[in-house]
Amino acid sequence: MRDVYPVILFYKYVPISDPDSFAAEQRTLCSSLGLKGRVLVAAEGINGTLAGPAAQIDRYATAIKTDSRFGDIEIKLSAGDAGTFPKLVVKVRAEIVTLNAGNIVPDKDNHLSPCEWKKMLEENPDAVPLDIRNRFESAAGRFENAVTCEIEHFRELPRYIDQLQNLKEKTVLMYCTGGIRCEKASALLRGQGFQKVFQLHGGIAAYQEQFGNEHWQGECFVFDQRMTVRVEENLVQIGRCAHTARATSRFVNCLHDPCHTLFILSEEAEAENRDHRLCPECLSAGISFETAKY
Ligand SMILES: [Zn+2]
Repeated sequence: MRDVYPVILFYKYVPISDPDSFAAEQRTLCSSLGLKGRVLVAAEGINGTLAGPAAQIDRYATAIKTDSRFGDIEIKLSAGDAGTFPKLVVKVRAEIVTLNAGNIVPDKDNHLSPCEWKKMLEENPDAVPLDIRNRFESAAGRFENAVTCEIEHFRELPRYIDQLQNLKEKTVLMYCTGGIRCEKASALLRGQGFQKVFQLHGGIAAYQEQFGNEHWQGECFVFDQRMTVRVEENLVQIGRCAHTARATSRFVNCLHDPCHTLFILSEEAEAENRDHRLCPECLSAGISFETAKY
């Protein structure tokens, strides 16, 4: 059995004047501590997730908080192991999370703490939870009665907003995994006339630390080898095999080379028919296991 490693998730939108040299510093720091994971740096901030031995993760947290730009950075913790990330990747990007919607200034003024968010969900009959994550993420777990988005990537959200017009007059309780996507998505929606938009501060990760599976169903998708994390107590499994509807949250990538979309596939369905390695869209488009790679 592998040792349990802490996995940290953190981000902050803050101006970085020289992303290249800051990324180089991050690479040196993470390498020297033997951490693995992914750190994205842009002129707008930092977005990272790292795993490693607890003492080294602590050293990383201390080091980044010593930098005045990140003194108040929030670091969320979950459990993984030495296999959670196969390697360390530190990259400079145009955005720390790609929305590709021009000059969006992340919203900072409409966060609700998990407690406030939950209270509004329970007490405001006009409130609708809005899951702005990708559809494969909400397929594995989401808040009860959440409106979900049929998108494969966050950058598809600007176009998808047309489908959300019926929420324009509602109280929108927006959420994502850790909060980073909401800050931009909120600015995008409010820019288009959605007036009552609130963000879940710290995202699902922070909410579940406090409230477990209250109002939450299923597992939380994570972008690493674990694929999902979950709170065991009162877990309601909602992940379903895309081909057979069996209860599972086992993710695979569609075998079709240009597609590669993530979808949920049960082991049994895969054993029954190897064409099940194709996502439902590719399969119904007539692509098979035999033709997928050619
Ligand atoms: Zn496919």
